[in-house]
Amino acid sequence: MSDCLFCKIVAKEVPADIVLEAGRALAFRDINPQAPTHVLVVPKAHHENAAVLAAADDGLTDDLLKTCHAVAVLEGVAETGYRIVFNTGAGAGQEVFHVHAHVLGGRDLTWPPG
Ligand code: 5GP
Repeated sequence: MSDCLFCKIVAKEVPADIVLEAGRALAFRDINPQAPTHVLVVPKAHHENAAVLAAADDGLTDDLLKTCHAVAVLEGVAETGYRIVFNTGAGAGQEVFHVHAHVLGGRDLTWPPG
């Protein structure tokens, strides 16, 4: 989508600190990190949110989750624990409407989230 920020990052039209490029997924650091590790994992194809992705799924959801875990291993947080968050819809705090998983780790994470 031409006006989508994350499509522009995927197309390398907007710079990002890329952590991993894995087939149909791309992982890059969040510009406003909420933890020592805060990486966004997106499918290269545009889907609005996790629900839309799941409905359209052709194995991409699986790829996305595997990439999240690969990022956690790369970042050294796989053993200590990490969190994967999909804000889905504006009411849940989603601000960028290209589905993305937040991979958060490197500090104690409390529950429930705000
Ligand atoms: P959401 O609230 O949609 O779940 O998360 C969007 C995330 O995108 C936020 O954590 C925000 O900091 C991040 N973000 C917004 N603009 C940019 C950008 O231009 N580059 C990067 N790397 N992250 C961004």
